[in-house]
Order: sequence, then C-alpha cells, then structure tokens
Amino acid sequence: MLERDTLKEFLAAVDRLDASFANLPPFEPAIPGRERIAEVLNQATDRLRDNYPYFHPLYAGQMLTPPHPVARLAYALAMWINPNNHALDGGRASSAMEKEAVAELAAMFGWKNHLGHLCSGGTFANLEALWVAGRVHPEKKIVASGQGHYTHARISAVLQLPFESIPGDRFGRMDLGALEQRVKRGDIGTVVVTMGATATGAIDPLPGILNLREKYGFRVHADAAYGGYFTLANNLSAPARQAFDRLSEVDSLVIDPHKHGLQPYGCGCILFRDPAAGQFYKHDSPYTYFSSGDLHLGEISLECSRPGATAVALWATQKLLPLAPGGEFAQGLAKSREAAQALHRALANDPRWIVGFEPELDIVIYAPRDANAQTISRRSREIFKEAASRGLHVALAELPANFFADSAPELKSEAGTITSLRSVLMKPEHADWIPQILRILTEAEDSTRRRL
Ligand SMILES: *Cc1c(COP(=O)(O)O)cnc(C)c1O
Repeated sequence: MLERDTLKEFLAAVDRLDASFANLPPFEPAIPGRERIAEVLNQATDRLRDNYPYFHPLYAGQMLTPPHPVARLAYALAMWINPNNHALDGGRASSAMEKEAVAELAAMFGWKNHLGHLCSGGTFANLEALWVAGRVHPEKKIVASGQGHYTHARISAVLQLPFESIPGDRFGRMDLGALEQRVKRGDIGTVVVTMGATATGAIDPLPGILNLREKYGFRVHADAAYGGYFTLANNLSAPARQAFDRLSEVDSLVIDPHKHGLQPYGCGCILFRDPAAGQFYKHDSPYTYFSSGDLHLGEISLECSRPGATAVALWATQKLLPLAPGGEFAQGLAKSREAAQALHRALANDPRWIVGFEPELDIVIYAPRDANAQTISRRSREIFKEAASRGLHVALAELPANFFADSAPELKSEAGTITSLRSVLMKPEHADWIPQILRILTEAEDSTRRRL
C-alpha cells in the first residue's frame, strides 16, 4: 500500500543532479558502517511499524497524513546537498526557492509586498509573530480565544508578555461582545484571531474583530496554521468565506504547510503584511533591503540554521499543485470539507449519536448519545478503543459540552466539558470512505452499548 511508483522519477532526478558535478575530479565519499546499513534499516523499519496507519483513509483521527510524494522526493533529493537556508552561501538555490514559495503563500492571501519565511512549524511562526507584536506594543497584552491554540499562552510567557484568554461562544468562536468589553480598557496590544481552531475547525469572526480594531487600535495576528489553505476552497460557509476574504487586512499571519500543505513536518510559515517588521530582527542593513533579492533569510528569522530541503519540497509541491482557487489542490480541500459535512450529517440523522456544531473545515466532533456528560465521556473512550480494534482510528477531544447543544439540548446549560470523538478528514479520499467509517463507528457504538 505504500506508494513506490514515483521512485523511478526520483532516481532519474538523482542522476541528473549527479551529472551537474561531472566537472569535478572523481571522488567517492566514504560511508562508515556501510556494511551494516541494511541491518540497521531493518531494525528501524521494525520500530516504525509501531504507528497508526496515517496514510490510510481509515486513519480518521488527528491532523496527520504523509506528505505528497513530490514533497517527499524533492526533500530527499535536496538531502544529497543538505542546503542551509540561513544565509545565501549555505543555500543558494534553496533560499531563492524559499522566497518564491513564500511569495506564493503570501499571494494566496492577497499580499504582494510582504515579509516572511519558513520556520520549523506553527509554534515557532507564532512565536515570531508575537515577538514582533511585543516589540510594537511593549507592555500591552496579547489575547486569544479560549479555543485558540494553547501555544499562545505559552509563547507569551516565554516572551514575558501578559496574556489573557477571551471567552468563546458555543460554536467555538471568539465572542465579539466579550472581546469589545476587554479591548475597551485600552491595554490590549494584539488580538490573535484563530482561522480554524485545531480542535474543531471553528473560525473566529475576523470581520467583526477588524471593526473593533478601527475603533480601539490594536494589532491583529491571524493564526491560520491549520485553516489557512481553506481560503482556496469554493464551498465554505458564508461567515467563513467572509472571514477568509478579510485576511489580507491582518498585520501578521501564520500558516503551516506541514498541516494542510502536503509537506513533511518542519514546515511552518510566518508572514508580515508590512516588510518593515524586518527592522526588529537584528541586522545592519538599510530597511529597503527587506524586499530585495539579496536578502539573507537568516537576517529576518529568529532561527539560524534552517533546512533548505523544506523549501525545495514546498517549492516543488506548489509547482505541481499551484495555490489557485479551483485548482487541483483547492479541490482536494473542498473534498475534505465535503467529507466532514457528510459524516456530520449522517451522524446527526442517527439517534445513537450527538454531534457538535456544523464543521466549518474538515473536522467533525461527535459522541454517543447517552444520559449525561459522564456516561457520554466514558462511552466515547470505549468507542475510541473499540473502533481502533476494528481498524478505524479516530481521536478523542475534551470539549465544552455546550458545543453539542443543537443536537442534545440538555447539554446547553452544562458548564463543563465532555470527552467526545473527533475526526480530521484531511485526505480527499475520506469522502469515498464515509460509508465504511460509519459502518465501523456504528458497530463500535453498538458493542459498547450492549456491554453496559
Ligand atoms: C498546529 C497549530 C499550531 C502549532 O503549530 P505546530 O506546527 O504544531 O508547531 C498553532 N496554532 C494552530 C491553530 C494550530 O492548528
């Protein structure tokens, strides 16, 4: 089941790269331990078997999937060079490829004259965004919604910036009324807007938050680590579309190509709308330099050494599947959302289940219908295990009980959380596997109910 067909194209590419060094005197690198490579690889393979089958559509749990083959191969190809995108010396081609790939990401959000670079992931990208936010508004607070990623509170602590959480509504979004009450006091420097909450896919009301910015003047940072690419999908709800359409107005934005951009881990991206953000990174160059072609990426990045291979993989993927609305890549995202809607609909129409609010992106939250929060939680955990034993891997999520109020009105006034099931349907193939997923879920639900 593991794809190997593209290894032919890969070996041809290695030959082609090799040929470009033909003018050097012959040199065979020594490979210490060469005779034991097969043995050690076998051992590593045996260890790797201890994983869920993330590549398979019956893995419908956490946000995990292997990269696109072109990303895997382009990354591996770059490993014969191992470029370092810290400075142009160490990664000449791959630094140029990074600038191109990042410009394409910025263009997806309508930015032509941005500042940005790749980094290790969403955590580090958000760290850079909040670090700049703290330089712009020293002493002022950072706020994010309760369903925002927990990293913001932690990063703020690292940066020694005060942080506060803004309550959310029962659809997992930041509550605008609560935000206004809070920003009125004048001590909020930056509002983090979550464009796709990691647990549920909920999208904060960006248009309303931008209206508040007009009135109260704070900085807006969009955490679109998970959700950002969905701006390309043509089947979003009206409020989600309106929020994505205003993303070009935020001050900084994070997107994770290693989540929905088909990349291996180690690929996050930070973008600033105004290239002047570069002035905060230590450097000796004039500031016009930040948009020049000679820019050393190490001068606008907190990380020093960075993998050039990451840029090569992303660049190649975006060449194969351009970030165009209506394109092949965009259709894949639309299909994932369709799959989530289909699973949500099927479970909502089945009295054995309760479902959370409608999926905005590709995440479905659901639980077995039962007498109270405690039994629902216990049975969610049982179904999780039971489904796994039948080859279907879903995830567990601890979520506010009122997220399920439309489906189970008795939970509306429940103040606590419930343990629910969660499925990220991020593979376009998930759409075709909904009947199988439902069949196993139903069997698992049935067997845990009879056991009671
Ligand atoms: C995943 C995620 C992060 C953290 O990113 P990593 O790439 O895991 O470091 C931050 N914010 C959101 C909304 C995320 O989904």
